[in-house]
Amino acid sequence: MPISKDYIIKAREEIEKIHSENQLLEVRRHAEILQKIPRFINLEIKLAETTSSVVSLIAANSPNVKEKIKAASEENLAVQREMERLLTENGYDKNYLDQIYTCTKCGDTGTVNGEWCECLKKRANKLAADELNKRSPLKPCTFESFNLSLYPEHSKNNDNPREEMNKIFRICVDFADNFKGNEKGLLMIGGTGLGKTHLSLAIAARVIEKEFCVVYNSVPELLRTIDNEQFGRSTGDTLSVISACDLLILDDLGAENTNERTSSLLYEIINGRICRALPLIVSTNLSPAELQNKYNDRILSRLFSMNILGFKGDDNRFKL
Ligand SMILES: [Zn+2]
Repeated sequence: MPISKDYIIKAREEIEKIHSENQLLEVRRHAEILQKIPRFINLEIKLAETTSSVVSLIAANSPNVKEKIKAASEENLAVQREMERLLTENGYDKNYLDQIYTCTKCGDTGTVNGEWCECLKKRANKLAADELNKRSPLKPCTFESFNLSLYPEHSKNNDNPREEMNKIFRICVDFADNFKGNEKGLLMIGGTGLGKTHLSLAIAARVIEKEFCVVYNSVPELLRTIDNEQFGRSTGDTLSVISACDLLILDDLGAENTNERTSSLLYEIINGRICRALPLIVSTNLSPAELQNKYNDRILSRLFSMNILGFKGDDNRFKL
């Protein structure tokens, strides 16, 4: 999927800024070491001299050049070891003065062999996802603020909603804590006010903490946004963003108007993620029977291939 050029430009600017900050940090570290270990400067001079003599020997091609190069290289290595020893003796890591790269693959240039580096693409996707999430701001819901005592221990059906919810809660925490970006999706089913949005937002918050790119949106809002873009009423490439993000969370499936176009878009979105083993969380207030009435078999088979979490209990919004 293509990534919008604007986000690539912004991502490049971010990487350049990081590169400058890293260079500044290198300079600061160097100044700090020279101040704390004054004789370090002599070793640096020595290192520069031995490096330069190795280079001139290679160029000169004089008699016994191999032996001379070997001797100069050994001296050069000995100076490097001495520098490392001094650093560690003074409580620093031996690599403290190495060049600092946030991405070692591209050395913070954003490209590898003329291709965009993964770090650049990831940043561009994150910027696009942030823009999309602005339209459905992630509310501050966490696992810590999820209150299991709101769920009754007994119900008319002789089951224990609290125990069931505790299992669902554990599944959601595990999903977020062990998130790698290739998990099987979750389908959250249950009436309103049972905590589906709370738990999906808590997953989003924790996965974002781990620096993954998450897009959270309600199905009606998402379909409206895509429609506006495809009919030229607004700019953006939401389909690419939701296709490329690490985790897509679709809230309130079933609240949208269903027609052929929305059905095919929904199938494209859900099937696209599942086929590429990209995680997806879908929540719906509809019962399995209502889902079956509303959606065609293609969508249903995709939805029911996910891990299904059945939320139970009474509407907790009144208890809060
Ligand atoms: Zn990179």
